[in-house]
Amino acid sequence: MPTLDQITKQALRALIPPPRLRLSEWIEREIVLPDGVSALPGPVRLWPFQREIADAIGDAEIERVTLVKPVRVGFTTLLTSALASFVANEPAPILCLLPAEADCREYMVSDIEPIFGASPALAAALSDERDESGRNTLLSRRFPGGSLKVVAAKAPRNLRRHNVRVLFMDEADGMESTAEGSPILLAERRTMSFPDRKIVLGSTPVHDETSHVLRAYAQSDARIYEVPCPDCEAMSELLWPDIVWDAGAPETARWRCPHCAAEVSERHKPDMVLAGHWRATRPEVQGHAGFRMNALISLHTNAAWGKLAVEFVQAKDDPTTLQTFVNTILGQGWRSAGDELAEDELMARAEPFGLAAVPAEVLAVTVGVDVQHDRLEVTYLGWTEGGTALVLGHRVIWGQYNAEETWVELDGLIGARFPHALGGKIGVDACAIVAGDGVSMHHVTAFATPRTRRKVLAIKGAPGNRPMI
Ligand SMILES: [Zn+2]
Repeated sequence: MPTLDQITKQALRALIPPPRLRLSEWIEREIVLPDGVSALPGPVRLWPFQREIADAIGDAEIERVTLVKPVRVGFTTLLTSALASFVANEPAPILCLLPAEADCREYMVSDIEPIFGASPALAAALSDERDESGRNTLLSRRFPGGSLKVVAAKAPRNLRRHNVRVLFMDEADGMESTAEGSPILLAERRTMSFPDRKIVLGSTPVHDETSHVLRAYAQSDARIYEVPCPDCEAMSELLWPDIVWDAGAPETARWRCPHCAAEVSERHKPDMVLAGHWRATRPEVQGHAGFRMNALISLHTNAAWGKLAVEFVQAKDDPTTLQTFVNTILGQGWRSAGDELAEDELMARAEPFGLAAVPAEVLAVTVGVDVQHDRLEVTYLGWTEGGTALVLGHRVIWGQYNAEETWVELDGLIGARFPHALGGKIGVDACAIVAGDGVSMHHVTAFATPRTRRKVLAIKGAPGNRPMI
């Protein structure tokens, strides 16, 4: 039996004529980018992967849209255009939530006003700056049939007064809870009285465990954008571990097809992205469309694979710059497992020892290495006479498993010596390297075999504890 809510939705839908255009088509017809907002002023041209996102936002059957987004894929323009379509086609109370007041001002002045001003369908909508109620302020506009308010998540008091049908939240991972609770939940509560509400939440993810946008994406139908390989035509998501380059020359970056191992150069990217499509990995979820992407599909010249690889090489040795790369380019949350500083701090609190002060009872140090496609995870263990293992430290070497410099870096790490509590220094007595899969096994043995005398061994991964040497 349908609920009252569903009946109301159906009744409302019956009253509203179906839109003649899909939202992506409306945007490309009506939205004009002025000089200064875009490097390409003129009518908006959406990228292939942006069209379905726009259509999902415009789809009455979809209540929630979640966007896990990197930078350089043109999101601000897409969101502003979608916002514009509600103002022009489905006027309603609209709320746009951004992390801070400065973000709100910047967004209103640099995006909404110039884009609305340059687009004939919108120029009239927001022109009545001083209506009779006198309530227009910099961050609030009234228009026939609705209003648009841009509110900072840091001032949740401002949320209480409004009930809204359309809620846009951008950079949600930059929103912190206040004494009044989560600004995201407070804002969503403002939409409860509208059965045909629309909630769009987007963000560059920040921390894996606390990310609002990753949590929302996990509840969505979890779409990924897949592109065809020019060689074997199999569809794949473009992922960072499949980007390879010549040793020491990140500018030569290519995409290695995970199906046929063909190495595909940048010049194929526009055709691949054009022929790509979104695939829901949780198609059983209805009413919540989630989109995840990284900058590898961007057609911006400053997101060419070679440029991104150069940025990666510059960023990878410093956790702060590396996190920025992982968040903003790869569109991924930062995992504390790969966060050396957090890990070291944690260990420093838990145990009064580490590589900087190897305790007296440690007689030998061993290193375990786990090989992933984009990094090596290195764990140092200290062994006591009784056979107890103490975790002394953990390091992550960011780099391709098949790049020479990754293994040169490992060679340096296992050659290091550490101050021992009894005086002098202690080196690494043995090193076991676990190949993650058959693909990396060859590189592991190529590294280990010439170092057998230093007790560097390649071992096969097995669950549970393995006896050390
Ligand atoms: Zn292929």
